[in-house]
Amino acid sequence: MKMLSAESIYIHIPFCKTKCPYCDFASWANKENLIERYFQALYSEINHKCTAYLNFLKLIPQSTKISNLKTIFIGGGTPSLIHPDYYSKLFEEIKKYFNLDDHCEITMEANPGTVTEDFMKSYKNLGVNRISIGAQSFNDDILKILGRKHSVKDTIDAINIVKSAGILNINLDLIFSVPGMTKTCWSETINEALKHEPKHISAYSLIIEPNTPFETIYSNPKTLPDGDFAFELYSVLCQALNNHGFRHYEISNFAKSGYESVHNLTYWLQKEYFAFGTGAHRYLNGLRTCNIRNLEDYIENPTQEIITEYPSDHNFEKIMLSSRLDNGFDIELLRNISQKSDFYIENILNEMSKEGLLEFSDEKISLTEKGMFLNNEILLKLL
Ligand code: SF4
Repeated sequence: MKMLSAESIYIHIPFCKTKCPYCDFASWANKENLIERYFQALYSEINHKCTAYLNFLKLIPQSTKISNLKTIFIGGGTPSLIHPDYYSKLFEEIKKYFNLDDHCEITMEANPGTVTEDFMKSYKNLGVNRISIGAQSFNDDILKILGRKHSVKDTIDAINIVKSAGILNINLDLIFSVPGMTKTCWSETINEALKHEPKHISAYSLIIEPNTPFETIYSNPKTLPDGDFAFELYSVLCQALNNHGFRHYEISNFAKSGYESVHNLTYWLQKEYFAFGTGAHRYLNGLRTCNIRNLEDYIENPTQEIITEYPSDHNFEKIMLSSRLDNGFDIELLRNISQKSDFYIENILNEMSKEGLLEFSDEKISLTEKGMFLNNEILLKLL
């Protein structure tokens, strides 16, 4: 029988002050009246499932823990909107079933305009030691285009509050390829972000998701920056962060040495993890499942799970995920699962290497900066 080997938990907090027009996450505005019931459902899900996991492990509840946690990630949504008392109880529930590693990375996502000194100090006292701030841009015009309700000043205030609460392990989320964004304005955002000495930066190109207001607003692709310009912006980012000593360890993620996100590496290294909350996805015992995404339905039925993937996709997924990392992926694994012949693969790898898209040896393939940007196209050709 397989055992649960997961050492990470993701907790989803779906409440936001307002809904951003590009966002397709499981998050809702104006549902604060459901916070109390949501957390009761969350505690109930944790209790119900963790008891089942313990039974599965054939251990005795109350006397043995499921695993030793290396990471907890409280994401959303906007977790920084929520009163610390809810998290106090949440950690109580988690600690009933899990040991927390001495160096457990506990991340909470926070949005500018919702961060207060009192809450932040309490989060820190509860054990939160890493804050990921949804800065998105340090240009007020770009924030308006994105439909964000916060200002640059709100972001700077939030960073200062987090630091004064004693949490220095800060990630800043940024978005590029926003309509109207120039190279200069993107450089200014990067430089301003760097001034605040974050340990980690995540930067994503704006994607127009189906069923969002942006899908209607930007239905004409000509109103969006094209791929070449997006790559120019990506290069500006990579160069600036490289010059400032960040390791570009994943397509969209850059860290000072030792501050790579342990939690997110769990996903990219295809390790298993627990997850709780509405729409939360988990990977346990070789199976990927997710919770009900609708908030009210989740509150009514927090333990229901839907299977999202069968284990046969495992190796394909391994390449998809590890190709995102600077360490790359095994060439042997590619040969084993690709539909293409070894001869074709050898030729296409040589061709892509000449084009500066990847580097490869007898064992590994790793994508260059340009290759990372074109990751999907490259994998399509290889697989
Ligand atoms: S704050 Fe984040 S999660 Fe909430 S609506 Fe905006 S992008 Fe989505």
